[in-house]
Amino acid sequence: MMKLKRIFLAGIVAGVVFNMSPMGMAAQPSVPVNATCIVTPREKLDGKTFVKYHGKTYGFCCKSCVKKFRKNPEKYITRFAASQNCIAGVCTDKKGDV
Ligand SMILES: [Zn+2]
Repeated sequence: MMKLKRIFLAGIVAGVVFNMSPMGMAAQPSVPVNATCIVTPREKLDGKTFVKYHGKTYGFCCKSCVKKFRKNPEKYITRFAASQNCIAGVCTDKKGDV
């Protein structure tokens, strides 16, 4: 019986080590910060064209938008950030607009 108990305990220890391993932190799927193409906002993402820029993932509707983005990423990111201030049609970046 002692031997079985030792195996049982070893299993618990192994389970604890497994739970403490940083597996949950590894290999996070790339989720784009934008819901529509960052270059052509009226287009939806194609679901396979992504670019990582400054630690963030941006999605695109097509490869040609990636080329445009790479030429001037800050332009599109700035525009995207500005559009994020609008929630349900209410923009907070315009003065006097409540
Ligand atoms: Zn596109």
